[in-house]
Amino acid sequence: MEVFIEPIGRLMNEFSKLPGVGKKTAQRYAYRIINMPEEEARAFAAAIVGVKEKVRFCKICGNYTEDEVCAICSTRDKSVICVVKEPKDVVAFEKLHEFKGVYHVLHGVIDPMNGVSPNDIRIKELLARIAEGGVKEVIMATNPDVEGDATALYIARLIKPLGVTVTRLAHGIPVGSELEYTDEVTLSRALLERKQM
Ligand SMILES: [Zn+2]
Repeated sequence: MEVFIEPIGRLMNEFSKLPGVGKKTAQRYAYRIINMPEEEARAFAAAIVGVKEKVRFCKICGNYTEDEVCAICSTRDKSVICVVKEPKDVVAFEKLHEFKGVYHVLHGVIDPMNGVSPNDIRIKELLARIAEGGVKEVIMATNPDVEGDATALYIARLIKPLGVTVTRLAHGIPVGSELEYTDEVTLSRALLERKQM
């Protein structure tokens, strides 16, 4: 016999799909929801549905947005493009309040061991943006790990012949680490001291 009645067990099962949530935490979350005022629980559920209904990818940079084109692409300096792996990396840079350019989210890095080829990430889209003209510098800001470095090098080889300066974040970010978890001082310095590739 199940220990939990069906609706509670079902909610726990949903929570346990979240990263880092084990059975005990899922149980704690489920009981917290049960104890919420109904309005609060409805708002919680509506927020989940809302992100699925309203959030989409910017058609230029690939970052999350509510509109066709994101606020960063609509308002910022398009001559400098910072190339990152995932939307959460954009957040890491935006927290610095230093970068005035735009982004390009690859949605992955080249990783042949896991079947990810250059065609599987948004490289074509980046080349198309550069082909439109006006781009002076592309900053390769993929993670400093094997796949991130290989992807940066691959893209640099493609765009250098187009007359665009290609830079890479300076070292200082621990090798193998993720930008998302890099402290702001280190990330800020890596951006400031970026090196030409
Ligand atoms: Zn955008």
